[in-house]
Amino acid sequence: MNTQDSFSSLGLAPSILRAVAEAGYTTPTPIQAQAIPQVLAGGDLLAAAQTGTGKTAGFTLPILHLLHTTPAPGKAAPGRPRCLILTPTRELAAQVKESVDTYGKYTPLQAMVMFGGVNINPQIQALRKPLDILVATPGRLLDHAGQRTVDLSGVEILVLDEADRMLDMGFIRDIRKVLALLPRKKQSLLFSATFSDEIRALAQGLLNQPGEVEVAKRNTTSELVSQAVYQVPQKQKRELLAHLLKRNDWRQVLVFTRTKHGANRLSEYLGKQGIAAAAIHGNKSQSARTRALSEFKDGSLPVLVATDIAARGLDIEQLPHVVNFELPNVAEDYVHRIGRTGRAGSTGHAISLVDKEELKLLTAIERLTRQRIEQLTEDSFVPSTTAAESYDEDLARPPRPPHNGPRHGNGARRPAPRDGNAAGRTPKKAADDHARPSTPRNAAAAPGKPPRARPQAALLARKSPAGRGH
Ligand code: AMP
Repeated sequence: MNTQDSFSSLGLAPSILRAVAEAGYTTPTPIQAQAIPQVLAGGDLLAAAQTGTGKTAGFTLPILHLLHTTPAPGKAAPGRPRCLILTPTRELAAQVKESVDTYGKYTPLQAMVMFGGVNINPQIQALRKPLDILVATPGRLLDHAGQRTVDLSGVEILVLDEADRMLDMGFIRDIRKVLALLPRKKQSLLFSATFSDEIRALAQGLLNQPGEVEVAKRNTTSELVSQAVYQVPQKQKRELLAHLLKRNDWRQVLVFTRTKHGANRLSEYLGKQGIAAAAIHGNKSQSARTRALSEFKDGSLPVLVATDIAARGLDIEQLPHVVNFELPNVAEDYVHRIGRTGRAGSTGHAISLVDKEELKLLTAIERLTRQRIEQLTEDSFVPSTTAAESYDEDLARPPRPPHNGPRHGNGARRPAPRDGNAAGRTPKKAADDHARPSTPRNAAAAPGKPPRARPQAALLARKSPAGRGH
């Protein structure tokens, strides 16, 4: 291998390189190759990186190096982190913390994750110990700051991860409050999949002459993901989905629905068709979510039905199939959704079931991604005559008008909470409800390993598949 292409040429400490090698990475991804030297040089960074590009290691590795090789300027104190990583959701926070632990396991650095929706006391206990890296969602971090259980005055490096999503979820005020608690002099890194005017404004106020890296063009989808659309009346969608799942013998499929209720109903329907499925969203108990996710990751649960916010931050290696049961109202979310497949160099497959009511959304997506999505018909699918009667109207909340323009400041044109049940809550509450920790990742197949061959029977018939323990 060309040394230019290897991690060892980046100047990372041997203890970090050892952990990277153990993780099985040989070559830095483009975002890593660009971001790591800039972060090591100490500058601020504005990074445009879609999920799945390896961005987490792109900031985690150089941060570990900097903290490991430079002693803390002030006195080390419990609950006083040197690095703060803010994320929009609990899932993402848990996954970033896991990455920090994985890559930092041969360093003495201590990391902690905090998020809302769980008892605060264990977090308070943990903050009584020495701490180098804190990964947090904004709301719970502010709770701790208010109780003075965390001291942010020693933060040398700040990361805003998935900043666009934090703004979408209404965290801008919380972010500004957190920023006010941090030292003025610090290194700041802002990662965002998309660049709205709001993100640019946030970056301008926060970053000092930042280096910029951009690995995928804005709002483009990965060439590794094949995309197709089936035009189908809403009432026939679930039958078509069950048909496609069975006929193609897809074994690891993430299905997006527009509402939590729709996710529940669809997973129940699939269960009744003998296809094991579970729904994951903010109304599920943490244990149900954790179980569903770990079974989905280890390949024992073939179908996971999720809402946008619940799916945010899920890192499932080599996820082969994504299905949009309904198109998202915000065209950019289409890019995020299908970014769940075709990750880290593997190929993926994304299909969308599109009712004629949703054709405007499809046009908006095609305009945003500057491509036409192939339209397929499924000749072997014959809808049942009872599809219309047995169809539950709850599954079909009509789409809102398409939205793919930049999100402007002061809340104008901000999309409503994506999950139906979150309507009427404050954005923060809705976001908190959606963010729960995930199970350890990397439980899925190793990179490069072909999908496991499993008999069709594995996709069908599972013990009590419908409404599995939710
Ligand atoms: P991220 O975009 O940070 O969510 O990372 C996406 C996936 O890529 C994660 O599962 C990482 O473990 C994996 N990954 C990150 N860096 C590399 C690399 N250099 N080589 C192979 N896989 C990687």
